Amino acid sequence: MFADISFPISSYKVFTYRIPEKFSGKIQVGVRVRAPFGPKRMAQGVVVKLQKKVDFKGKIRYISAIVDETPIFDKTLWELLNWVSRYYLSPMGQVMKCAVPQKLSSTYSPAKQLMVMKNEMSNDDLTALKEKAPKQFRLMEALEEQEEPIPIASLKNVGKNISAICRTLEKKGFVTISSVPSIPDSSSLTLKLLKKKITFSKEQRNVITELEEHLGKREFYPYLLHGATGSGKTEIYIHLAKQAEERKQTSIMLLPEIALTPQIAGRFRAVFGERVAIWHSRMSPVERAWTWNQICAGAYSVVVGARSAIFTPLRNVGLIIVDEEQEGSYKQESPAPRYQARDVALIRGKLSGALTVLAGATPSIESYYNKAVKKLNYIRMKYRYGKAKYPQVHIVDMIKEREETEDYRILFSRLLKEKIQDRLEKREQVILLQNRRGFSPIVSCRDCGYVEMCRHCKIPLTYHKVEKLMKCHYCNFTKMVPDDCKECSGTNLLLGGIGTQRVEESLIQEFPEMRLVRMDLDTTRRSGAHARILRKFDQGELDVLLGTQMIAKGLDFENVTLVGVINADTGLFLPDFRAGERTFQLIYQVAGRSGRGEKPGEVVIQTNNPDNNTIKLAAQLNIEKYYNVCLNERSELQYSPFSWMAKVEFAGKKRSQVERVAEEVLYSLKEKPRFLKILGPAPCPMEKIRGNYRYQIIFKSPKEKDKNGILIHKFLEKNLVDSPFMKKRIGVTTHVDVDPNTLL
Ligand code: ADP
Ligand code: ZN
Repeated sequence: MFADISFPISSYKVFTYRIPEKFSGKIQVGVRVRAPFGPKRMAQGVVVKLQKKVDFKGKIRYISAIVDETPIFDKTLWELLNWVSRYYLSPMGQVMKCAVPQKLSSTYSPAKQLMVMKNEMSNDDLTALKEKAPKQFRLMEALEEQEEPIPIASLKNVGKNISAICRTLEKKGFVTISSVPSIPDSSSLTLKLLKKKITFSKEQRNVITELEEHLGKREFYPYLLHGATGSGKTEIYIHLAKQAEERKQTSIMLLPEIALTPQIAGRFRAVFGERVAIWHSRMSPVERAWTWNQICAGAYSVVVGARSAIFTPLRNVGLIIVDEEQEGSYKQESPAPRYQARDVALIRGKLSGALTVLAGATPSIESYYNKAVKKLNYIRMKYRYGKAKYPQVHIVDMIKEREETEDYRILFSRLLKEKIQDRLEKREQVILLQNRRGFSPIVSCRDCGYVEMCRHCKIPLTYHKVEKLMKCHYCNFTKMVPDDCKECSGTNLLLGGIGTQRVEESLIQEFPEMRLVRMDLDTTRRSGAHARILRKFDQGELDVLLGTQMIAKGLDFENVTLVGVINADTGLFLPDFRAGERTFQLIYQVAGRSGRGEKPGEVVIQTNNPDNNTIKLAAQLNIEKYYNVCLNERSELQYSPFSWMAKVEFAGKKRSQVERVAEEVLYSLKEKPRFLKILGPAPCPMEKIRGNYRYQIIFKSPKEKDKNGILIHKFLEKNLVDSPFMKKRIGVTTHVDVDPNTLL
């Protein structure tokens, strides 16, 4: 017997191996194996096909070892991974690498943790210990109040060499040591919440009735649930997951970034307790492997996780929810497979006949379009739950404000300051958004205009006042602030633009009493930092939460009655077809954080472009109108969702080489459908990142001509999957991105 194996390499090529006698019958499709690869190396791959005979005349090598005793996927999941491989033009070996924890094997057992428990001990023994072995005595003292075994590791602060001391005490019979599997601790990702009594409103009941009808029917009936922030979508998800559980089905709940949404994870925990698994990219390999095994063993009813949770091996999935489905983080940018988890969710839903709900307060343009062409069923929830009302929104024209106050450096308008003061007096809370971290995003010379750039990227460096450094936000390159200008030796450096650190500094000056916290990438690097900040804010220990887009998502604080957007124009003019959509969604979402309880909310949006359609319609919270404007633009320019799109990106150290390879690929394209639009090759708007020059070719296939995207796929497969495209070229790497999220 022979087996075709796919390895995690960037090629579609599968390799044929002989199955040794001892493994016959044990090797099946979907099982991972190890085999010699190249002259000296062993590699792990997955069996994609079994064959009795092969035509190949050369020497065929043997498979060396089996990693899994049984296929780690059921049929549905295997089909799903195959779909991902085909659709995103990504070899199966690579898809497996992304979908399955590296450490996994069926013989895997989780790391052990040593626990200690005190035994009964006479007073004489204790006194003796105190005199002869003070260290051992101290440890016994630390265990004084103990009622259950505790991890030895948790006794670190008692002294040095704790494990050795425990061993000695064990020999003397004073303690018992045991070992238990160490279970991942996800408490840093969940916010503890009280269970509350839920009484569904009429609007909510209607939604539930409609959705519930499709639970357990084993039919594909996908929904777009377009519900205002605060309309109770999360309560509905929880309710549906409970209903699914009653029908002995499992649920997958996708969140854009689980570390940013500890509240929602916490709400599931409050209801499902240990029957919820948390799945996200920051888990350690051990945690992943352990959780994966538990999911396979059927220990969970619900998996709450970030995008890769769509691949978890839950059996009998009856419900899939994609919350805030418009979020860019559902798309994996790198490495391959460059999949869009929202679309993978729809396919998994279809394959397993699960009720699939894409949900959000500001749907993606794609889903909004799919609703229009009836590919998605649509449910709207217009009202916030309970007494909560839509906030009142004010736009402040900052150009006018500067003229009127004759202060050209102001960060806060008079209106915003007034409202903040008012909230501080009323002991209500404030959220402020500035979607740029650092102190100032541009450091330039006042005399000659020279801008400090990253050495590796064609991007200005951001000044970070806290660390007194300039940093590149793409590659993390850092540099001291120079004393004088490199170009003209002038000494007048100008700190331009606004970052969160600058806003923080000004806030402290304006409101010295204010209890303020800044939440951005720089303050949340340590695991659990996020949840800690939110917990403090939730408990009212802080007045103001200032941060980047990470504060706009999924937060629900009743006492927040004011949201301020310091500069709404950030990101608005990026040269990308999604720039407007993203800006609209961000403003709309952050506005929704205001007035979620009984007290009415207000929003102040500061902008230099008060007449810009995106800003204006976001401030009016007018989704329909904005989406129609946006769809018209996309239609004119034949962008997604009116065309199927793909991007081929070339990168390398030498610009001329990159350009040449891109030209060669363009030239080599065969059997091009007439209607296919090809743009480029052209330098990417962000031309150089991490020392690499970047070029791209963009393909657009209008849906009028290519209804299901089959034609563009055939074309891409023919040209880009096999040689000469895949031919290795020294110095230039190439990749394909199907349905690209950005063209930057
Ligand atoms: P969304 O997910 O749509 O933003 P949430 O589910 O977070 O909305 O609901 C907003 C707030 O209203 C939450 O505090 C939630 O617990 C509460 N809420 C929503 N629906 C109900 C209900 N039927 N009964 C009690 N509280 C509710
Ligand atoms: Zn850089």
